[in-house]
Amino acid sequence: MNLEQVKQVWKNKGKIFEGLKNRIIADQNIKSIATDRLLICQSNKCGAYDLTGKGCVVKGTQPCCSNIPDANGVKGCGCSLKIAAYSMSKDCRKGFWAAVMDENKEDELRTELELPLKN
Ligand code: SF4
Repeated sequence: MNLEQVKQVWKNKGKIFEGLKNRIIADQNIKSIATDRLLICQSNKCGAYDLTGKGCVVKGTQPCCSNIPDANGVKGCGCSLKIAAYSMSKDCRKGFWAAVMDENKEDELRTELELPLKN
């Protein structure tokens, strides 16, 4: 992992922790949203569903949302989809699914996880 990739992981640590937490102790609603998101990703209508791992920020975390630019120069987030789908404050960069957690809820979660609040 290069310095830019480390910075990207650090910048998104809150969403990563949230996704991990929700994956472990997800309620039925979160599981349902995550399942729907994963089905959308797996359909690969976006062209960014990466099973090879070439476009993953962290090697070995596929399937991920490829951060290799598409024909229009748009990149996915490079996130492991097994985690990203469970992060309720995360959205799809290409607009295929939206965040379902508002800023206040995300701040509550960050406090609970002892993470710095967003500026
Ligand atoms: S998060 Fe969006 S762009 Fe990434 S694989 Fe899923 S649908 Fe595609």
